[in-house]
Amino acid sequence: MQVRKFCYSCTAPLDMPEFKGPSDNFCKYCVDANGNLLDREVIQKGIAEWFKSWQPGIDDKKALERAAYFMRAMPAWAA
Ligand SMILES: [Zn+2]
Repeated sequence: MQVRKFCYSCTAPLDMPEFKGPSDNFCKYCVDANGNLLDREVIQKGIAEWFKSWQPGIDDKKALERAAYFMRAMPAWAA
């Protein structure tokens, strides 16, 4: 039984091939081709887009605010 691993930046499940990238700690959407974590603004935008995909009616500003809030709970971004 394998312990589930989640992206430290966005919580994507790393045991699913569609999220597994070059890094052991981050999903492929949160790193570049070398496995380096992307800039905070890039990740925030990506998470905002993800929120918009399953929260109909949410606007860009609200999505970015929620993304920023969400990221505060992530090991990669917690201050
Ligand atoms: Zn991620």
